[in-house]
Amino acid sequence: MTEPRKINIAHPDIGPAEREAVLEVMSTGGLAQGPRVAELEDKFAAYIGTKHAVAVNSGTAALHAALLAYGVGPGDEVITSSFSFIASGNSVLYTGARPVFVDVAADFNIDAGLVEAAITEKTKAIMPVHLFGQPCDMAPIMALAAKYDLAVVEDTCQSHGSEYKGQKTGSFGTGCFSFYPTKNMTTGEGGMITTDNDAVADAARLLRAHGMKVRYYHDTLGYNYRMTDLGAAIGLCQLAKLDSYNARRGANAASLSAGLAGITGLETPEIGPDRTHVFHQYTVRVTPEFIVTRDSLVEQLAERGIGSGVYYPVPIHMQKVYKDLGYDVSLPATEQAAAEVLSLPVHPRVDTDDVARIVEAIKEISNG
Ligand SMILES: *Cc1c(COP(=O)(O)O)cnc(C)c1O
Repeated sequence: MTEPRKINIAHPDIGPAEREAVLEVMSTGGLAQGPRVAELEDKFAAYIGTKHAVAVNSGTAALHAALLAYGVGPGDEVITSSFSFIASGNSVLYTGARPVFVDVAADFNIDAGLVEAAITEKTKAIMPVHLFGQPCDMAPIMALAAKYDLAVVEDTCQSHGSEYKGQKTGSFGTGCFSFYPTKNMTTGEGGMITTDNDAVADAARLLRAHGMKVRYYHDTLGYNYRMTDLGAAIGLCQLAKLDSYNARRGANAASLSAGLAGITGLETPEIGPDRTHVFHQYTVRVTPEFIVTRDSLVEQLAERGIGSGVYYPVPIHMQKVYKDLGYDVSLPATEQAAAEVLSLPVHPRVDTDDVARIVEAIKEISNG
């Protein structure tokens, strides 16, 4: 008997168009930031619906540069979610400011109802993380930002193309995207800052190139956060396919939720009102009522050739690096989410047979 094909939790879709685009850049010899980066910036800004897009070399760099562009620094506080990839917190630490973590709601995103109580004299910005591809509840967040005069730096590293009340994430405040290979679109490594704010865009462009406006004259401290034309060439091909990728993710998610409905102790993801979900991850909760533990389910799926992932097993405030910085808060919903979440393959290369296999495997395991 032949082993069934392994279904991976992520699988970047790199085809002939990407290969050809990279070879074309290589033949020009212009490998670093150049015309392909400029073209990707123009097309990405048009896609998100912002005046500016500034390409950088990672999502982390995008977050760091965006925070600096708003003047966030030592003594400041930035309100964000602890149930995220470590970069959401670390990018704040890089500036010398302190991330203040607010608990999440049932949808895994920051609980907008808890944000106001966390605002202090030191608060400079709110960083909503649109986790797994679902927008945060942006209306109350934007209202608080206006009321307290706070910057909004959106962590859009998982939400390329998702919308809240018909508006794309990354266009409410300043968006910070990642193009890491597992994300909804890729440039290899890469990132993008999207904004309508001219001053923030100008500052971000300086920060990405060692504070240099005139060649070899440096007025401010900057970094090397430039994207390569090789990466941008891949990104242009990927951006053209982003909506169809997201549609496939959505269709896979709908099929998974239909197939997994009614299993005791397994909660499928819900899409909140007024928003679209681009399913960077399809994430279920494996509660104590499920027949086996979450971690045992991971193992039993792996035995059946089905990859899965726990995003994230340890919330940021409980990571050793944050404990060592003196973080000692209790975030019950965040900690419960970390204990219960399991992400199943949903990416565009997952087909209907794969979805059926995933559903059958979980049903079989749940029947003992
Ligand atoms: C991927 C990711 C980042 C960081 O992006 P990189 O390109 O890996 O630096 C930040 N925040 C979230 C939520 C992410 O998923």
